[in-house]
Amino acid sequence: MYEKIKAAGGFEAYAGTLPNLADAFQSDKCLRCIDEGTKDGLHAAGSGIAYIKTKGFDKGLKGYQAIDAGLTAAADAFKNANLDGIYSHEECGAAKLIYDKFPDSFKEQLEKEHKIKNSDEFGAYFANRLATKIGTEYKGMIKIADMARPSGHHVARFTYIDSTGTFNPSVEGLPKGFVISRRYLEGEEMIFEADVSISIVLGSHGFGDRITAQQPHALIVIGNDGLSKEALIGELVPLVAKYNGRVIVDGCTAPFNK
Ligand SMILES: [Zn+2]
Repeated sequence: MYEKIKAAGGFEAYAGTLPNLADAFQSDKCLRCIDEGTKDGLHAAGSGIAYIKTKGFDKGLKGYQAIDAGLTAAADAFKNANLDGIYSHEECGAAKLIYDKFPDSFKEQLEKEHKIKNSDEFGAYFANRLATKIGTEYKGMIKIADMARPSGHHVARFTYIDSTGTFNPSVEGLPKGFVISRRYLEGEEMIFEADVSISIVLGSHGFGDRITAQQPHALIVIGNDGLSKEALIGELVPLVAKYNGRVIVDGCTAPFNK
């Protein structure tokens, strides 16, 4: 897929040829996962759950302390986003990534105290608590049947890093992709979440070995006046360098809703 964009002269030139591009800069104000199956709105891995790692585990916190640190950071990131609600979703890779890091003893505690038996229920618990903390509504778990990807398999070969907070790649001609709302996530968090999306694509639920330097996964930045395309690409260059050409970075300046 990226070959087509490359042939057009890069993402900016390619996007300029799409007649309905303006429609890609309209989204609702609900927070969802970065998963390519959860369309519309704003996006953070597991609706903010990845903060349990970056602001919890990585700081030496465990159990509820790590969860609370994640909730505080996620609430801080999205408190000024005027959210209309928060969703969790089925088969959430980010919720699984976090849940699997807890020791069995804490998982048993979560089951006893909150009836949480698996990672998706943990994702719902986090989204629900985050909604309460921000003062918005928990809108429920998006079922796999209502998602824009098949069960058990990720189909995206793109990760969009959006500085507008309105980007929604569900218009004709724009490839499906993970979306990370860089408008609300600081650089360090965005880089971790971009890396999560890459590890999903390169893993067994994604395209695995079929992602090569000839057929790379593309990170596409959507810059604007406040956070330029060049600055966003600069943030991602060190991450991309880890993948020996299997991941590239490209992007555009938002032509709408800056
Ligand atoms: Zn997810």
